[in-house]
Amino acid sequence: MKFVSTRNASPSVTLSQALSDGLAPDGGLYVPEALPRFAVEDFVGLERVDEIGARLLAPFFEGDALADSLAQICKEALNFALPLKRLDEQTSILELFHGPTAAFKDVGARFLASCLSRLAAGDARPLTILVATSGDTGGAVASAFHQKPNIEVQVLYPLGKVSPRQEHQLTCWGDNVRAFAVRGVFDDCQRLVKDAFADPWWRENKRLSSANSINIGRVLPQMIYYACASLWHFRQSGQNAGFVIPTGNLGNALACMWAHEMGLPIREIMLATNANRPIVDFLGGSGWQPRPSVSTLASAMDVGDPSNMERVRHLFADDDALRTAIRALSVDDAMIEETIRDGLERYREVFCPHTAVAMCVREQLPATPWIVVATAHPAKFEQIVEPLIGRPVEIPPALASLFERPAHHVEIAAQLNALTGEQ
Ligand SMILES: *Cc1c(COP(=O)(O)O)cnc(C)c1O
Repeated sequence: MKFVSTRNASPSVTLSQALSDGLAPDGGLYVPEALPRFAVEDFVGLERVDEIGARLLAPFFEGDALADSLAQICKEALNFALPLKRLDEQTSILELFHGPTAAFKDVGARFLASCLSRLAAGDARPLTILVATSGDTGGAVASAFHQKPNIEVQVLYPLGKVSPRQEHQLTCWGDNVRAFAVRGVFDDCQRLVKDAFADPWWRENKRLSSANSINIGRVLPQMIYYACASLWHFRQSGQNAGFVIPTGNLGNALACMWAHEMGLPIREIMLATNANRPIVDFLGGSGWQPRPSVSTLASAMDVGDPSNMERVRHLFADDDALRTAIRALSVDDAMIEETIRDGLERYREVFCPHTAVAMCVREQLPATPWIVVATAHPAKFEQIVEPLIGRPVEIPPALASLFERPAHHVEIAAQLNALTGEQ
């Protein structure tokens, strides 16, 4: 399988090349040149997540240097539970938050780390992963790459702009992971990363790569849990489920669209966004209009210009075909709060604000089978959740053990020479 750019102005590349490059040279995003087709029967006898994953992703790895390692990569990356729980007659919830940093980004980050560490193994110089984060992504990436040989990670986050628990998840690793608190805002962190990629000293002295959400190595593994959940649901009920997906940058939802296209037993896809409305308005018939993001309680979905929209539009023949295939609803902060407050009584569940967006959308849909995607553990957002439910949220064991690790960071000015001085 070869991978091509959404902008069609770069040569096609191998999977390994696409993983190492991140972005295509023409500025586009890598997509598979074609999507393989599967039938339910192709997965007969496969139950475990890593087994289903290896079967699903085999066509994408075919002919690549990593092909022989795929089964092992799936085992390594997907080493935590992805339970599908029944909430009521027609509603299930797919919990993606049982990984080391308690959010679904662990799946993509761990898979990418397993791939890149194999590709970096033979190189004379270590691979340097630079990651700017406003909170969640950096923790998942740091955890995934921690102690991977021949790779170093440098996490940049805005000083004083992340929650205490988020900061701990960025700064508790040590070894090959370093955390820099930048005196500035998130955009400054992103600019420092961009400047480093363009800087002669960095180009000469480091082998740079990025692990942000546009890397194809984060999208491909996300298809695995859609395949598993839809197959499990189908085997149990004989019915195709629809998915309700909390959406920001469209990476998680894109994986579901690809899985649907590939023939997995998925009935339909419903996107759930917070008050950031570009996707909802576009699907409602207006032109594509990115906007500055607005802050909401579901902050990991505060995106006004979703980067994966380019891949979504590439998947469909034209915008009308996309509007026919996918629906979306937007939920405001008051509805998020109400859904969290009512969740305990209605379902005996505590939802994180992102999951609550999807849950609220599900409640507006007809009584056909739906799987709601739960993207983070509520203990990560205790400052929002606890006052609403009037009791503490229990911290899951993975997060608890992480909070016990000592934390360390270096504070720097928002200038590249400050970061360079620390090398
Ligand atoms: C990143 C994130 C999302 C949004 O996922 P996208 O792939 O950007 O659409 C939703 N919920 C949580 C908890 C996240 O961290």
